[in-house]
Amino acid sequence: MPATRRRFCQAAGGLLAAAAIPSALSAPRRPMSEDAVDLPPAKLTGRPLPDLLQPLPLPPGERIGFALVGLGAYALNQIAPNLANTRGCKLAAVVSGNAEKAGRVAAAYGLGKEHVYSYDDFDRIADDPAVDVVYIILPNAFHREWTERAFAAGKHVLCEKPMAGTPADCEAMIAAGERAGKKLMIGYRAQFDPYNLEAIKAVRGGDGTDGEIGVPRIVVSDHGRILDLAVTRDQWRAKKELACGGSLYDIGIYSVNGARYLLGEEPTETTARYLPRSDRPQVTVEEGVEWQMTFPSGAVASCTSSYRVAGNKRIHVQGAEGEVTLDPATDYYIRNLKIQSGDKTRDVEIPQANQFAAMLDEMATAVRENRDPKTPGAEGLRDVRIMTAIYKAAETGEAVKM
Ligand code: NAD
Repeated sequence: MPATRRRFCQAAGGLLAAAAIPSALSAPRRPMSEDAVDLPPAKLTGRPLPDLLQPLPLPPGERIGFALVGLGAYALNQIAPNLANTRGCKLAAVVSGNAEKAGRVAAAYGLGKEHVYSYDDFDRIADDPAVDVVYIILPNAFHREWTERAFAAGKHVLCEKPMAGTPADCEAMIAAGERAGKKLMIGYRAQFDPYNLEAIKAVRGGDGTDGEIGVPRIVVSDHGRILDLAVTRDQWRAKKELACGGSLYDIGIYSVNGARYLLGEEPTETTARYLPRSDRPQVTVEEGVEWQMTFPSGAVASCTSSYRVAGNKRIHVQGAEGEVTLDPATDYYIRNLKIQSGDKTRDVEIPQANQFAAMLDEMATAVRENRDPKTPGAEGLRDVRIMTAIYKAAETGEAVKM
């Protein structure tokens, strides 16, 4: 196919694919002939089910019950409210070290006292049939221990990123899940975000076609924000024993994971260096890293993570025939996606893109269908291995093979 025609087809395919993502954009169902239509009577009457923007939710009794471990900023601002936006999940229990907070949250979400757990009496959750999945949203250093405890209690586990402090911890978590015969998923919400999924399609193509941007060659990605020790959720992030790593572990992981899912391949080598740090003695993690990753196709990724810059969350992929810009790429609620292919540029708009609900529903569906979730423990392990290699490269100044 000539290059211009291929580009046109790819662009058209991309537009169609973009439109196909939310069913909200699909054409409404129409009867075969308008002649056969009876218009409604001029009085109150029952009417057919309208075209639904999303499937009806499952009834409460059929939903998968989630216990949230750790009632911090992410659990209470993003996850708890978004459980109600899912098709097949429900909040079933809370686990916290603060009984007063746990009681308030449970009351607000209509949970009985028997579904409120402390860290000490968590193990009795084994006898709580309302709980299918334990969702671990604790500081990173606790992810392994709590994953193992949840498996020991006979529950499935959804664990936040980064999966754990070391590859060995991740391997132990995977093994614990296998022994228990339960699912383990890592909370990579961006892999369920329709904007990121559309970007993947533009880069990697699909159904036997190349991506719209031609062969991808260069990824540039930056994630940064100010680490503010006056903010509670940043306090454990400053401390190595709790956070396991610094900016790379917390937000640079989005660049590592993003480069991997956008290119669809695994890096083989990394070089890295630490960026200058602040003089705050309480901060015992690295505050900034600049690193490169080389991929088998010859594509390279050039990334930064920093706790010392105003917020940025961007991923940019340059290909032989165009480029994809996600900026912000990994925000909770705002994503901007621009796709340039040859002489055409388009901004992608996807209404009702709720990555949290999509991620939670994936866990519920994996449990219901007894299959592996899309982002299993092995996915978390890959990133932890890569970040370990990046730290080693920054420390030694040498390229590290993976
Ligand atoms: P947070 O500080 O707001 O919440 C941490 C929770 O752990 C709190 O309920 C706190 O009480 C509890 N906790 C127990 N022991 C603690 C201790 N010794 N020190 C501090 N807290 C302790 O943090 P957060 O921002 O909600 O992050 C929690 C986890 O969620 C982390 O693994 C983080 O990487 C992850 N996270 C993921 C995303 C995402 O977009 N996927 C976003 C934010 C956070």
